[in-house]
Amino acid sequence: VVEMGQPEHSVITTCAYCGVGCSFKAEMKGDQVIRMVPYKGGDANHGHSCVKGRFAFGYATHQDRLKSPMIRDAIDQPWREVSWEEAIAFAAKRLKDVQAKHGRDSIGGITSSRCTNEETYLVQKLVRAAFGNNNTDTCARVCHSPTGFGLKTTLGESAGTQTFDSVMKADVIIVIGANPTDAHPVFGSLMRRRLREGAQLIVADPRRIDLLATPHLKEAQHLALRPGTNVALINALAHVVIAEGLEDEEFIASRCDDDAYRAWRNFILEERHAPERVEEITGVPAAAVRRAARTYAAAPNGAIYYGLGVTEHSQGSTMVMGIANLALATGNIGREGVGVNPLRGQNNVQGSCDMGSFPHELPGYQHVSDALSRRRFEQAWGVPLDDEPGLRIPNMFDAAIAGTFKALYVQGEDIAQSDPNTQHVETALKSLDCLIVQDIFLNETAKFAHVLLPGSSFLEKNGTFTNAERRINRVRKVMPPVAGKEDWEVTVDLANALGYPMDYRHPSEIMDEIASLTPTFTGVSYDRLDELGSIQWPCNGDHPIGTPTMHVDDFPIGRGQFAITEYVATQERTTSRFPLLLTTGRILSQYNVGAQTRRTDNQAWHAEDVLEVHPHDAEVRGIRDGDWLGISSRAGQTVLRARISERMLPGVVYTTFHHPGSGANVITTDSSDWATNCPEYKVTAVQVEKVSQP
Ligand code: SF4
Repeated sequence: VVEMGQPEHSVITTCAYCGVGCSFKAEMKGDQVIRMVPYKGGDANHGHSCVKGRFAFGYATHQDRLKSPMIRDAIDQPWREVSWEEAIAFAAKRLKDVQAKHGRDSIGGITSSRCTNEETYLVQKLVRAAFGNNNTDTCARVCHSPTGFGLKTTLGESAGTQTFDSVMKADVIIVIGANPTDAHPVFGSLMRRRLREGAQLIVADPRRIDLLATPHLKEAQHLALRPGTNVALINALAHVVIAEGLEDEEFIASRCDDDAYRAWRNFILEERHAPERVEEITGVPAAAVRRAARTYAAAPNGAIYYGLGVTEHSQGSTMVMGIANLALATGNIGREGVGVNPLRGQNNVQGSCDMGSFPHELPGYQHVSDALSRRRFEQAWGVPLDDEPGLRIPNMFDAAIAGTFKALYVQGEDIAQSDPNTQHVETALKSLDCLIVQDIFLNETAKFAHVLLPGSSFLEKNGTFTNAERRINRVRKVMPPVAGKEDWEVTVDLANALGYPMDYRHPSEIMDEIASLTPTFTGVSYDRLDELGSIQWPCNGDHPIGTPTMHVDDFPIGRGQFAITEYVATQERTTSRFPLLLTTGRILSQYNVGAQTRRTDNQAWHAEDVLEVHPHDAEVRGIRDGDWLGISSRAGQTVLRARISERMLPGVVYTTFHHPGSGANVITTDSSDWATNCPEYKVTAVQVEKVSQP
């Protein structure tokens, strides 16, 4: 990539990193991008960007890019470069052989939130129509699947309620388990602007995030809770609202289900939820909880934003419902400046969930057991569909180890690095007869693959991403695919080689099919996207230009449903052997497992993951800044360098997960959310000791 010179032309497209979904003008000279300029007309970013989107696009032309398909008979054999035709034929034969020997349900597919909506839709269609089962899942399984479950249960739709711009109307902003200035920088800046204008801030997080240091803050409250105690805290906040009569009676009476509210009210009023009773569990002083609850309930507009610090817990789904309960009880739903807003980590987490990647839901969250929905898809796709939910990612691993699941197609996802308990994942992958990996780099998962299919970066394809505010943005091709094919074309070829016909000339035709089968997308097309710039779904006859604010007059399920949110302590307890709690997060210059940003200049800014240790915990262990530390958990061990930091509570340590060498997931356990199996990345009991240099 050249960084200087005058452009010959430019193309408007969407950033492929976080869930803000910033629009950019890719300025081009021939086939080369010379600059990425934040696009002023971008509805999510209004001309702003962060260092990742602006400068970290060089990975697209990095020398490590896979340029040719490769195959091998066994994972201990060398790779053999082959043509696309040979690789697809090899993959299809292996899949057919496995199904012939082990049955229809012995194969499956995983897609990624890095892929476009159209690619994701095709992967789940391939699994359902060509494989003949529902063994399809997405990496949203390991991040925001509890959001899908929790918000659908309480509010009737698996999505956030607001636009980003809505924060400018908020008077009180609660941020739970999120670090927007690092993980969602453009939105983090917008939030800071609102805070500088006078909005009050309440942060519930074990770590002192940068937002709390915003200059000229009117008021900031930090509820520094112990990892794993979110639900106890949200129940205590709700207890104060109800016990002190701070609820919005009119909203509850007019918009919420009466029986559900009465049952929840009786539950939440129980004395065991009083802040004074849960102080010992959360570590947050009762007076601080009471103050925060009163601040939020008194606000004309109170908005809640949350991240993976909410979802990646054994009670992730319960906590999402707890947040929705609090918003319903205070009437903070259905207008600008309020709402329940999940901050999605990857560019297309929302889209990958919307597109039917989960094993129990067809596109548009239509359950596979619903005969009417299923029949519509059967008619369009021309095959009968399975009415039983398929395997989730962790179930696929377990079934692989048990010998009943034998082949897997993975598009754009590095499961060997990003899923918890690496040893378990690797054992599963080694057990497969056929692993097909489609990616832009030779990732960790590819080490266990039999077929490698080169992927295309966001600059090399057409499609759409859906950001955290349900906004569908166009991704436009600015250069030819490095390996000659866009990702959607590879899936089409594989389906055809398996004997299931797929025929699309352009991703716009895939979107047309999505719109024809998904009630919340019926008004979406590439022409409409070009005309409007972007569209927030639902977009249909009732909402012809999309829906900036959800649940204004009613909920898709009629009335808001309060849910009982019983706190259950995590299994991941500290003991004398593992006396500290580890939690994880992101840093501004890097993105997820770093496969992209580590191959750009951003690498120099954050060359390694470190372990943040509180001075008290460091002192008793004789640890100094920069020492090498051995970190062990019930799952495994790794080594990281120490950073002494007062950001954490004593007893809690913290690291990022951007570098494969540090292997944060070697030590995370396979505990997971009770409803969705989202892994409990945010709580791992560990021991930390000084070691000599690794
Ligand atoms: Fe925008 Fe996120 Fe990309 Fe930064 S990483 S430019 S905030 S979409």
